[in-house]
Amino acid sequence: MTCWSLQTAVITDFTQHSLRSCNDQDVGHTHLTFVSSTGFERKATPTRMAELEGLEFGKSDFVLLDEVTMEQFMDNLKLRFEKGRIYTFIGEVVVSVNPYKHLDIYGKEVIEDYREENYTCIVISGESGAGKTEASKYIMQYIAAITNPSQRAEVESVKNVLLKSNCVLEAFGNAKTNRNDNSSRFGKYMDINFNFNGDPTGGHINNYLLEKSRVVQQQEGERNFHSFYQVLRGGSDELLKSLYLQRDPAEYAYTDQGASVTLASNNDSLCHKAVMAALKVIGFTAEEISSIYKILSTILHLGNLQFSSDGEHVVVVGEETVEHISELTSTESENTRKTLLYRTVATGGGEVIEKGHSEQEASNGRDAFAKALYERLFAWIVGRINSVIEVKDYNPALHGKNTVIGVLDIYGFEIFDNNSFEQFCINYCNEKLQQLFIELILRQEQDEYQREGITWQHIEYFNNQIIVDLVEQPHKGIISILDEACLIAGKVTDTVCLDSMNKKLGQHPHYTSRKLCPADKTMEFNRDFRIRHYAGDVTYSVEGFLDKNKDPLFQDFKRLMYNSSDPILKEMWPDGKMSITEVTKRPLTAATLFKNSIIALVDKLACKEPYYVRCIKPNEVKSPLLFDDGRCQHQVAYLGLLENVRVRRAGFAYRQPYARFLQRYKMTCEYTWPNHLMSSDQEAVEAIVNQHGFEDDVAYGQTKLFVRTPRTLFTLEQERAAL
Ligand code: ATP
Ligand code: MG
Repeated sequence: MTCWSLQTAVITDFTQHSLRSCNDQDVGHTHLTFVSSTGFERKATPTRMAELEGLEFGKSDFVLLDEVTMEQFMDNLKLRFEKGRIYTFIGEVVVSVNPYKHLDIYGKEVIEDYREENYTCIVISGESGAGKTEASKYIMQYIAAITNPSQRAEVESVKNVLLKSNCVLEAFGNAKTNRNDNSSRFGKYMDINFNFNGDPTGGHINNYLLEKSRVVQQQEGERNFHSFYQVLRGGSDELLKSLYLQRDPAEYAYTDQGASVTLASNNDSLCHKAVMAALKVIGFTAEEISSIYKILSTILHLGNLQFSSDGEHVVVVGEETVEHISELTSTESENTRKTLLYRTVATGGGEVIEKGHSEQEASNGRDAFAKALYERLFAWIVGRINSVIEVKDYNPALHGKNTVIGVLDIYGFEIFDNNSFEQFCINYCNEKLQQLFIELILRQEQDEYQREGITWQHIEYFNNQIIVDLVEQPHKGIISILDEACLIAGKVTDTVCLDSMNKKLGQHPHYTSRKLCPADKTMEFNRDFRIRHYAGDVTYSVEGFLDKNKDPLFQDFKRLMYNSSDPILKEMWPDGKMSITEVTKRPLTAATLFKNSIIALVDKLACKEPYYVRCIKPNEVKSPLLFDDGRCQHQVAYLGLLENVRVRRAGFAYRQPYARFLQRYKMTCEYTWPNHLMSSDQEAVEAIVNQHGFEDDVAYGQTKLFVRTPRTLFTLEQERAAL
């Protein structure tokens, strides 16, 4: 085994063996999760021992620092980054620094080295561009590489679909932002099911809040979703002709806004071919693929539609475009035109009338329609993939225990020059995940020492629950205030809503507005508010918040789509069936729907004992050489890594219930093998510890043995392996 193999532990820390030992409680997590049946099994490989001791590459576990200071932490992190050692442990947590270059550490050989390792469950988090999605892909590749040695066709097909789904979801759900050329603009939680052989049998994908505003609007330097550029650049002449599309993305308002249509690091044309191939492998039919591209094209055409007024009526500029849209959506052009210009409203007396749009209403309606088309297309693609990978007819009695690994890859914390509703939701989601980390790694750990009666010096850490509450608390939090404003009929503007937030939250230590802090010239009156997030201060512009939260779409568009003669498009719009009088008046707002889904996600993860990978972005310029000390230190600080080391170090790296410890190591001691005659498992464990001379390295809790350093475990593991 070569010495770099330890570096791959992040993605190779689990094996067929551990997959088999997982139970269905076990699911990984965050930006990426894995699952574990135990947390106790870090094997002492020769490489690992050497690395633990070696200085050339820095300390491979921060727990081994001479002193836990920011200076030493940063020195070690930097040294390892410079030596190409991008992964470093803190106990069972892994710190990963984005190398921004290909490292030759994910190859077949390394996978083979790790095949028999007993690592399991992992969770990845970090800010935008820190490397979460890449890590999640390596994990999927690892799973694919180590499973199904006998190449059974049905397992191979599941693996293929799982791998190819990444390519499709990235094309439709990722985009170039000013922080990351391939930024995830949706959240993805993927469960992968394994049978008793440890082979994948299926899975399920949940997606979270796609950033659909990007379909119609992008900041300077950013792009729309990759899918648009890919079809324009990579689609055959024939396809483009049938979609009435020109090749150049600059021709379309929706793809040209950020004035940055090209990606240095990405070949749109090649990607289009890969996506087409992936769609076929997954099992999308030719009709389905055709409908997908017709919808993309419809959106591009919609973006180029203009409206003007002859003084009395609003009319569409560009009749030909309306014809194209009607053909692409299999609707009557007369209906399409009418839907773009009028809405049906129910009067108080139950009468149904048609009301003409103003120019502004017509273009807002068009944008809302384009966004909804894309969002529903995306949700439909996810649903379609699920229908292929879903585990069918699962029978525990026949198939044995079903094992699940969960992988969560979600947008990371972000701060832009202009932060809107989307950043607010994304950053709230990251607060929730940080809260989970605190809960599981910092708080519960310390609680456990207390519960087990272990002498313990409490370690202070910043608990971000206060920020989570600021956003989500019923009646008082920002989401509630936004929802209230959305409920009030008539003219509550963003500014009025901001006023209400300022009044209610003015005293909150993590909330500031320009009004409350007039000296702050970086914020604008009546427009901005600021949240002091765990990862930094973010100033949000309230402009557009209410509209994005209400997310209105005229029922007429839904009905138009429901009445399409394209069955696939119709399937995406079941709610178009309702007439205007049947429509629920107050659907849940976007922020509340998002909040509910994130709370459900966090609850799910909380019971899975996720193991974490904390990703760090080394610099803002995507350079493989630059380690920006200030930026890195900031991330180390807000991720709570130093506190993590302190808790880990002052405490105990490993713990195990007495019975389980005994089960694993009883063969290493003459008094416990094959069975012990002592009055309790604890006493038997004491016998093992004493025989090996580890007395100073352990503490005895009420129900568990606590072991301070990894070395003790490595030694026991080696002895066990040698027997
Ligand atoms: P976001 O929250 O915006 O989705 P992310 O954390 O998922 O961000 P990635 O897309 O995984 O970030 O990484 C950004 C870029 O950094 C990748 O496109 C790739 O160029 C580079 N990168 C990340 N991890 C690695 C790695 N392990 N090896 C090589 N390059 C990497
Ligand atoms: Mg990502």
